[in-house]
Amino acid sequence: MNVPQMFGENVFNDAVQKETLPKEVYKALRATIESGKQLDVSIAGTVAAAMKDWAVSKGATHYTHWFQPLTGLTAEKHDSFIEPEGDRVIMRLTGKSLIVGESDASSFPSGGSRATFMARGYTAWDPTSPAFIKEGTLYIPTVFVSYTGETLDKKSPLLRSMNALDKQAKRILALFGRTCKKVSTTVGPEQEYFLISEEMYQKRKDLRLTGRTLFGAPVSRGQELEDHYYGVLKPRIAEFMADLDRELWSYGVPSKTKHNEVAPAQHEMAPVFSSTNTAVDMNMLTMEVMRKVAKKHGLICLLHEKPFRGINGSGKHNNWSVSTDDGFNLLDPGPSPEKNTLFKLVLAAVIKAVDDYQGILRASVASAGNDHRLGANEAPPAIISVYLGDHLGALVDCIVKGEDYVPVGSLEGSIGVPESPIFPKDATDRNRTSPFAFTGNKFEFRMLGSQANVSDPNIVINTIVADAFEQFADELEGKEDIESAANAVIERELKAHHRIIFNLDGYGPEWEPEALRRGLLNNKNTADAVPVCFEDKNIRVFVKQGVYTRAEAIARANIQLENYTKIINIEALTLLEMAKQDIIPAVSDYVADLCANVAAKQAVNDSIPCNTERDLIMRLSEGNDKLSVLITKLEDILGSIVMEEVIPASQAMAHKVIPVMEEMRSVIDDMERITSSEYWPYPTYFDLLYSV
Ligand code: ADP
Ligand code: MG
Repeated sequence: MNVPQMFGENVFNDAVQKETLPKEVYKALRATIESGKQLDVSIAGTVAAAMKDWAVSKGATHYTHWFQPLTGLTAEKHDSFIEPEGDRVIMRLTGKSLIVGESDASSFPSGGSRATFMARGYTAWDPTSPAFIKEGTLYIPTVFVSYTGETLDKKSPLLRSMNALDKQAKRILALFGRTCKKVSTTVGPEQEYFLISEEMYQKRKDLRLTGRTLFGAPVSRGQELEDHYYGVLKPRIAEFMADLDRELWSYGVPSKTKHNEVAPAQHEMAPVFSSTNTAVDMNMLTMEVMRKVAKKHGLICLLHEKPFRGINGSGKHNNWSVSTDDGFNLLDPGPSPEKNTLFKLVLAAVIKAVDDYQGILRASVASAGNDHRLGANEAPPAIISVYLGDHLGALVDCIVKGEDYVPVGSLEGSIGVPESPIFPKDATDRNRTSPFAFTGNKFEFRMLGSQANVSDPNIVINTIVADAFEQFADELEGKEDIESAANAVIERELKAHHRIIFNLDGYGPEWEPEALRRGLLNNKNTADAVPVCFEDKNIRVFVKQGVYTRAEAIARANIQLENYTKIINIEALTLLEMAKQDIIPAVSDYVADLCANVAAKQAVNDSIPCNTERDLIMRLSEGNDKLSVLITKLEDILGSIVMEEVIPASQAMAHKVIPVMEEMRSVIDDMERITSSEYWPYPTYFDLLYSV
């Protein structure tokens, strides 16, 4: 395989654009892509024709506007290129069809932001993310908006937030005499996932309907030996990964790293970072391709945050940074950060933003699936805090205390093997427990769930940092001595927001009470985390930065709660079905057989011991009875919930439904442990985790 040659072969990328477009058109298009210049619509016809010719030459017959509605997934509707001419057809894509598409919006969530009778929605081309061909169809990335211009997707607010950040970051740079065409945020999302055997998966209704196991006793061998992490890849997994890379590369996804993760059957893939907008699109594509390629290998790719209890769940680390079009990274501390006022100002802005808006940042990663991770002992806690590492941590401490900073240690490290070269040491060590960690020249936001659409947290990060930049720029512009004025701002803001910095173990038991003492939020589940989005301060920041209107901000929070409520409802109904239709009958059959065995033994001689059977009969019969009581209880609770009343319904799911589901699970898991495997109606954790 010639990787450089096949990389991006299915993408209408810069090279293809250069080759297929007239020079003037190419230049106009690049100006939009690279410096955010408004698209000159007069070039659309030419671009569309070139795109179509290129797509058809590669075997495509259809095109689709590809968008990201508020379901969090992607959506597509395929149109063929054909256009009748007499009794023949020609292949055609007009400028208009490239630029806008009409799509019925009524079946997508809108959170009440759009009257249902106004069902018209429009998709509009996003030229900053390249079109690509997949399975005979040309995919055109688009935004999705309503007839009245309200955003109905995840991409348009993301682009708006990137613009807001671009605008305010340029003002900060200008204070220090730097100019550039465009400031972009970059993201590298590390994607975790599980691979399990398709055959086992098909037998688990819960996995098929909800993406996770709703019960299952732990296996005797979980992840305690820590031998899976970075372990040798099994041949079938290695083949899957090779196939995955090949396909991702063809779509121009710079898949870079792959390895086994901590839990059995868990793996990770990380791409090289890119502009946030394309990183999001590529991550959506990556998740889809993972699922598809897995199927080809008789595997199922599970992207749920917590498919199995008792072993690690899956997340997605969002590595985030800000840089100019000429490659200057605003988060690069350089060799002596203490003297780098621009860097310190940017750092102070991020710290301020994260502290001021910890609530919406936390809410941006809240989902039914992710609730199982955050706060459990594997992912960061549900409390937002910032980790700076030893060096920056010490620097910030000094600024806050008004002391002079003496750099701690040298920035060169050695691994203590004389033959091995000295290597540059990261300015931070690898604290893995912090939700928002500075890692060298970027922040790593680690709270995202594995199936998240990466737009959500990035919309928030970009918006709140833009807002902090704006406040700083407003204050500093026109000041004569920028250095000292900026240092005063840095000192003041770091003092004000020092509470959000936590450089120690985020899993430790001391952190929760300490965070409480500091007044930090600790919203443990989606139902409790999302309502902060309705607070005035949290809406205003979006409105001010031009990212959401008030109505859009409210609609999105409603959709998030609605979505959560629906997911828990589906999980509860699935658990009820499985318990009633399969578990109770299976246990009952086993009990009946045990009873028959006891009777048979007694018939031979009533002195033959039957204690084992009797004990099992008793415990399993009690278990089934307990389960029946809980079933009724859960059905009653579900019956009392009015799904349309979003806030009370989500509260009931979190605080009433989930606890009963937990109780049911514990009864079921106890019964699984003592029921003959011949009778147990579902594959066990052993079957699921060790069959590949
Ligand atoms: P790890 O988190 O496992 O230590 P790395 O730090 O090497 O791994 O990188 C993780 C991810 O961060 C990769 O996707 C990488 O491309 C991305 N990354 C590196 N630099 C930046 C940056 N400036 N902006 C955004 N992402 C970045
Ligand atoms: Mg990482």
